Amino acid sequence: MFMACTDDNHTNKTIPHPKEDLISEKVDALIKIMTLKEKIGQMNQYNGFWDVTGPVPNEGDAEEKYEHLKNGLVGSMLSVRGTKAVRAVQKIAVEESRLGIPLIIGFDVIHGYKTLSPIPLAEAASWDLEAIERSAQVAAAEASAAGINWTFAPMVDISRDPRWGRVMEGAGEDPFLGSKIAVARVRGFQGDDLSAVNTIAACAKHFAAYGFSEAGKEYNTVDIGNSTLHNIALPPFKATVDANVKTLMNAFNELDGVPATGNKYLLRDILKNKWGFKGFVISDWASIKELVVWGYAKDNKDAAKMAALAGSDMDMESHIYVFELEQLVKDGSIDEEIIDDAVSRILTVKFELGLFDDPYRYCDEIREKEVINSPEHLDAVLDMAKKSIVLLKNENHLLPLKKEGQNIALIGALANEKNSPLGSWRIASKDSTGVSVLEGMQNYKGNHLVYKKGTDVTIGSTQFINELNINNTDKSGFKDAIDAAKKADVVVMVLGEHGFQSGEARSRTDIDLPGVQQELLEEVYKVNKNIVLVLNNGRPLTINWADKHIPAILETWQLGTQAGNAVAQVLYGDYNPSGKLPMTFPRNVGQIPIYYNYKNTGRPISDTNNPNLVFWSHYSDVENTPLYPFGHGLSYTTFKYENLVLNKKTFDINESVHISVNVTNTGKVTGKEVVQLYIRDLVASTTRPVKELKEFELIELQAGETKTVNFVLNKASLGFYNNQGDFIIEPGEFEIFVGGSSYTSLDTRFELELF
Ligand code: BGC
Repeated sequence: MFMACTDDNHTNKTIPHPKEDLISEKVDALIKIMTLKEKIGQMNQYNGFWDVTGPVPNEGDAEEKYEHLKNGLVGSMLSVRGTKAVRAVQKIAVEESRLGIPLIIGFDVIHGYKTLSPIPLAEAASWDLEAIERSAQVAAAEASAAGINWTFAPMVDISRDPRWGRVMEGAGEDPFLGSKIAVARVRGFQGDDLSAVNTIAACAKHFAAYGFSEAGKEYNTVDIGNSTLHNIALPPFKATVDANVKTLMNAFNELDGVPATGNKYLLRDILKNKWGFKGFVISDWASIKELVVWGYAKDNKDAAKMAALAGSDMDMESHIYVFELEQLVKDGSIDEEIIDDAVSRILTVKFELGLFDDPYRYCDEIREKEVINSPEHLDAVLDMAKKSIVLLKNENHLLPLKKEGQNIALIGALANEKNSPLGSWRIASKDSTGVSVLEGMQNYKGNHLVYKKGTDVTIGSTQFINELNINNTDKSGFKDAIDAAKKADVVVMVLGEHGFQSGEARSRTDIDLPGVQQELLEEVYKVNKNIVLVLNNGRPLTINWADKHIPAILETWQLGTQAGNAVAQVLYGDYNPSGKLPMTFPRNVGQIPIYYNYKNTGRPISDTNNPNLVFWSHYSDVENTPLYPFGHGLSYTTFKYENLVLNKKTFDINESVHISVNVTNTGKVTGKEVVQLYIRDLVASTTRPVKELKEFELIELQAGETKTVNFVLNKASLGFYNNQGDFIIEPGEFEIFVGGSSYTSLDTRFELELF
């Protein structure tokens, strides 16, 4: 453990005991006695290559990496599995290396460690920031007991393209909602005190604009303009920096010709200088090495130089910093100050985590037993799962289902799936199981339930490899399913994507129901129209036919360990759904990218001389509207919006705008509603979106109850980023829209003036 030791080779100084000193002083003192090699070692991260007993099979160069670890040339490891394994590698770092600097242990804790929450996109559909924060707390509590002190989450990439597999990992398409959720997640992981044993460092990723990869194709080129970069892609990152996130991760993409990992403009000019980010930046997996593949760096040495100068502080699995940086400093290509800055950022986080006080404090088998899958955690993820469900359609009040006297046919292989609902990104619990919809529904005993799978699901690749999914086309189960449907009062069909069909490297060009599931749906519909379609998916799907024909559609994503219980409770009305879509559902793939905060064009209206001539931006084979807009979601009750009031009509640019609206529950049961407020800046120095979400509030109303919801808009809500990336606010007229989706019900206007 690093407390006091003598440095024979270099300084012969005793390291000051860190207790009372400020962290920055401790860091400076430590850096002074580190060799250049040891400093560079802190910037090096390896994948888990060493287990309790020795090298991990298939982890190349394990012996060499072990030598590096012993010699203080490894600052961090990722994906080390389990408390014992973490303890083993930490022991090598602490007891065998010269300075005994502890490792920071990273892991992709994306939506839970062992007790799994819904996938992040699903959680975003709750618009419930407290629940989302709690979900991240649960993840941190479990991971931190198992030796992990740093998660590579939250992913805060905004995306408008559901073909991109990683939309499941984010918060959807909107920068305002995305920023709020990003901050809730950072708070959940990091808490108020990073040195507490149940909190871990967070990592906002992937910096930046990874969600804009062209055509939704994984790792593809990103080519967006400044306005989109500053107003859409960057705000969630800025929000996490303001919320004191400890680390950021580079993105795999290039941006305007410069790979993000070597992008000085992003990393130094914006992140570290303009925003004052004090934490450290980790590359994405091998993304430093990839600078060579891009044709941006000529060799590994050049790549190391570019990434370090740009501001990438730690090298994840490129194995380049550890071999190249020393010479680059020696030959004057990189100033040692750059290295010192990176190392000081990394050591600061290690001190803040308390790793220097006790490097094994996160390896706690007793706490691990107590917290993993604890009843509290199972309750928390069940609560989160119910809140994440979105009722897309509910004709004739088909939902909720009656609890007694019904014949119910449950159809679809996903209904009996215990693994798929866990979703993508759950490395610590790859083969574990959750509650299936079948099991959840079996808890309701008043009905007669028959299950038939109909067809198997297509299982995506469990690895990030280029492997074409072969869709399942077996229809041999159709007949049984159709027979069961014929006899049923209601048919519940659980269809969609398997958990491994979304996530990293799982982009799709066709986002219909995979395999023959659509055909199964249509065949069943021929014999029984009383269908509740329960969707399981990691992204918006194109379900145009279902929307036209199926009376009730429930979006249940992949809801984690308690999936089936949550779905059953919503189906039976023990929980009234309140989720709202965080991402637009297109009518077909050709509409993508389609999003609510689009820009007007110069041709939005009919020609005044000839009203029959309409010049809008449109397709000639599909209407302009999406299937389901951003913010859409129904309830088992209904809400009425009235009386949108502003405290005045004209404001000084420095004043706050106070808005109130009355919302009434006009139905028969208690329900929750996300009241959404959007603005439009009518004339500005760069064109502004037709609508932008600026506030929302989740309220609960008893049947017949009315609540007045108050909102305040200030400069932060009314301004925007110009093309130089400066935040500005301009006088002029604004329109305000309030309602229960981005297709809002009420609107009014006000004027902002420079008095
Ligand atoms: C992903 C990151 C992830 C990293 C480590 C990469 O492929 O892009 O988001 O944190 O792997 O597993």
